[in-house]
Amino acid sequence: MTTVADLGERALIARLFAATGPAPAHVAIGIGDDAAVIEPPRGGLDVLTTDSFVEDVHFRRGWCAPADIGHKALAVNLSDLAAMGAEPRAVLLSLILPDALPIVDFDGIIEGFLALARRARAPLVGGNIARSPGPLILDVTAVGAARRRRVLTRSGGRPGHELWVTGRLGLGAAGLRLLERDASLGPDGGTAESPPSDEGVAECLERYRRPEPRLRTGLLAARSRSVSACIDLSDGLAAAARQLSEASGTGVVLEAQAIPTCPTAERLSRDSGGSGTELALNGGDDYELLFAVSPRRRRSFLAATGSDRGSGVTRVGRLVTEAGAWLEEGDSRTPLSSGFEHFQLR
Ligand SMILES: [Mg+2]
Repeated sequence: MTTVADLGERALIARLFAATGPAPAHVAIGIGDDAAVIEPPRGGLDVLTTDSFVEDVHFRRGWCAPADIGHKALAVNLSDLAAMGAEPRAVLLSLILPDALPIVDFDGIIEGFLALARRARAPLVGGNIARSPGPLILDVTAVGAARRRRVLTRSGGRPGHELWVTGRLGLGAAGLRLLERDASLGPDGGTAESPPSDEGVAECLERYRRPEPRLRTGLLAARSRSVSACIDLSDGLAAAARQLSEASGTGVVLEAQAIPTCPTAERLSRDSGGSGTELALNGGDDYELLFAVSPRRRRSFLAATGSDRGSGVTRVGRLVTEAGAWLEEGDSRTPLSSGFEHFQLR
């Protein structure tokens, strides 16, 4: 089997270059020079973010197809742009590759990365390839644009503001749990114990392997000026709610009954001795968005995000004056656990 070491760095870069399509007009100089050159956004600000994706820390090759790895490395970065209300403009990719990586896997990684890049209009404008003595590493930098007064931050929430979340939560963490339990659930499908025909299982695996950054919802919410604060859910709802409230200088109450999840995530939460919302609260890998919205702006928020079909938003709690973070279940209020990380490969 041909490996990346057989081809060498130059041939790999040529292969990567050949796979990228034509660049949009704001890219003055793309891949192939010493640095990329892009036109600044007209009347806007640059929004920059970077995140690395490390084998056996953030993913396992036995659990994800190469295209999933490429997709997710980019998705986690685009999710951060979404949380800032920014529109992607360019991405950079550093690949640190073990010598024995098969060239077909290299091609798969690039394919998954570029397919999402095209959909998100985030052209790959440069990067770098180096040898790894150990794990496979993808290091991504994303550049976005936002209007000065439309940038979403974590810090604008006020007591009384409602918390709204996109999509359903806990699916990514459920996908990871399924893979941890059943090592034979490889990237190609299921097993007798967890047949791939189980729609809920397949959906959770898909969410874990290919999270969809909520770029459009983030952008529409930012443009509507109805949002006071925003964060993406890379490490679960509890951690995100706590970070947003701390940055805003408020406390936070999450309402257990309101948290949107799915039957598979609920079942796995209970199997591990928790309540049905355990994975939604403390699992990671959902990459949904959490918004703080003043009740006065609720209508305009719903009008803006309602036009992004498929994501849907649900009210899950509120910011409060008293510092701290709680989970409300009926009449009882318990402190939110500080977020354990055993569900996560990190
Ligand atoms: Mg984030």
